[in-house]
Amino acid sequence: MPSFARRVASFGTTIFTEINQLAAQHQAVNLGQGRPDFDGPPEIIDAAVRALHSDTANQYAPSPGLPELREGIARHAGVFYDLDVDPNAGVIVTAGATQGIFSAIMGLIDPGDEVIIIEPYYDSYVPGVQMAGGKPVYVPMHPPAWTFDADELRAAFSHSTRAIILNTPNNPTGRVYTRAELQLIADLCIEYDVIVISDEVYEHLIFEGHQHVAIASLDGMFERTVTVGSAGKTFGMTGWKIGWVYGMPELVTGVWRAHQFITFAANHPTQAAVAYAFTLGNSYYEEYQALYSHKRELVMQVINAAGMSAIQPEGTYFIMGDFSEVFDGNDVEFCKYLIEQIGVATIPPSAFFSEKHRKHAENHVRFAFCKSDETLERAAERMRRLRT
Ligand code: PMP
Ligand code: GLN
Repeated sequence: MPSFARRVASFGTTIFTEINQLAAQHQAVNLGQGRPDFDGPPEIIDAAVRALHSDTANQYAPSPGLPELREGIARHAGVFYDLDVDPNAGVIVTAGATQGIFSAIMGLIDPGDEVIIIEPYYDSYVPGVQMAGGKPVYVPMHPPAWTFDADELRAAFSHSTRAIILNTPNNPTGRVYTRAELQLIADLCIEYDVIVISDEVYEHLIFEGHQHVAIASLDGMFERTVTVGSAGKTFGMTGWKIGWVYGMPELVTGVWRAHQFITFAANHPTQAAVAYAFTLGNSYYEEYQALYSHKRELVMQVINAAGMSAIQPEGTYFIMGDFSEVFDGNDVEFCKYLIEQIGVATIPPSAFFSEKHRKHAENHVRFAFCKSDETLERAAERMRRLRT
């Protein structure tokens, strides 16, 4: 009897698929998956349409990505982080950040290597490390401030550590790591000769008073960091699945070797459109932040309507709501209750923790606020039912 491989035997259905199915079944207002219910800028869509009709974009793109997009990514890293990225040998365009992270893991991690993962984490990191034969070593962030403990972090490093996977601005906590937090990580990486896979897909989703620091911009870190970005997040087109990885050619070559045999090349017409998007200039990022600052206020109303509490996110379009005042049970139970009885879908954040640290999340659910104002208002209305 044929069966599937041992490497996938422990993988279930992702939490995003599970919650989407349950939400559809109960016609819940879906604040679960980070999937905007509106499009990115129409002029970027027009650029994709032009590419589709150009006679040049409907066949394979070059394996590392369209040159004009690689130039856009390198230029952006120079403008925002003062990094000197080689567009030819230091950038790979991937099928979303998810494939970028997977290619980075496959290209840089050997079987038996330890990989430090800060929790909560985006759900693809652990299966990626496991498929590469690496060993995840977990360091939790602690509620309510969602900071990691310096001693716990230090204790996770050893001479078997090959890499650390970071995500700032952080999904699902909304934390933006401070320069001091990143410096602590950087010092340990240099001391133990560790590579960083830095997932910065929410780099432009930053709220007033906070600043995104790229770990690659700290002294001694560019040569040991690969940085991952996503047009899904930066330009609001999650369905296009265009992401990228950049860094020193010495590391990026490893990522590219894996990338060639995972997908060879990412979607060509949308790469052309994302290259155009990188020419829009600063006003685009400012408008994007203003849009989400407004939505952050609306999602606070959703939380307040329910009688729940939350710390305002510093970045990202996610917020962790603490439900301990309104529900007796764990996050999975509350999520199910919210969908079935209240009609609002959220994500149980225990899905982003190892078994050992799941308790850190048990009083919280994650709301995504990349939704139209009407959707957020409808959710707030429904959440009021929790009080009655
Ligand atoms: N990293 C993080 C932290 C994310 O939240 C997401 C969400 N989609 C991704 C990576 C994947 O991005 P993409 O859709 O470009 O694969
Ligand atoms: N990043 C999105 C989230 O965290 C979902 C991506 C996915 O469905 N894999 O909600």
